[in-house]
Amino acid sequence: MNIREKLESLHQEIPSNVKLIAVSKTKPASMIKEAFQAGQRAFGENKAKEVLEKHVLLPEETEWHFIGHLQTNKVKQIAPFIHMIQSVDSFHLLREINKEALKNNRVIPCLLEFHIATEETKSGFNRQEVTEMISSQEFSNMKNIRIAGVMGMATFTDDSSLVHKEFRDLHEHFNFLKFSYFKDDPSFCEISMGMSSDYPIAIEEGSTMVRIGSAIFGGR
Ligand SMILES: *Cc1c(COP(=O)(O)O)cnc(C)c1O
Repeated sequence: MNIREKLESLHQEIPSNVKLIAVSKTKPASMIKEAFQAGQRAFGENKAKEVLEKHVLLPEETEWHFIGHLQTNKVKQIAPFIHMIQSVDSFHLLREINKEALKNNRVIPCLLEFHIATEETKSGFNRQEVTEMISSQEFSNMKNIRIAGVMGMATFTDDSSLVHKEFRDLHEHFNFLKFSYFKDDPSFCEISMGMSSDYPIAIEEGSTMVRIGSAIFGGR
């Protein structure tokens, strides 16, 4: 199957209320253009340098989603054009995003990344850290970020019951935050979970955004 056919078959499988982010990290701009021509608009990248290089090669209406660990000193480079930063994993990073968004006269949509996997190497907040951040005065003063929901990565394992549990945990974090802090905020609505190996489980557990790379563009 070519890229267009893979996208079409994914769209057959994914409900229409779940947004597909095509994860194009490490793949050349030519492949991204092929996906764009097939109608795909949202792409996921995990390195500032790479997304900087690629975004100038694609049409203006391409949506770039940042999905990797982001160093604060790189925020400045991507703030002018990034569509959403899905991998906010510290207050420190959020502050920097707010600052650079202000300089660009933008409000940047962000997702709070939760640590839901058993692997310690994966990053993300726990619920207490998020609660402390959101309750702070400093957080309420940040006008150039918009918290659009949560994001997480499950453990890389064949144990589907563990993956179900971790995605359910993320959905519960979302429900808790929605109820406690974002009840009247319709833009807090996204649960970004599910990759090539586990997106069917993520969808069963209530994903609103799946981030799929190798199943579209091939292995890395
Ligand atoms: C690479 C990556 C993906 C996509 O992984 P695939 O297995 O290629 O689908 C999704 N989310 C994040 C955070 C990633 O780094």
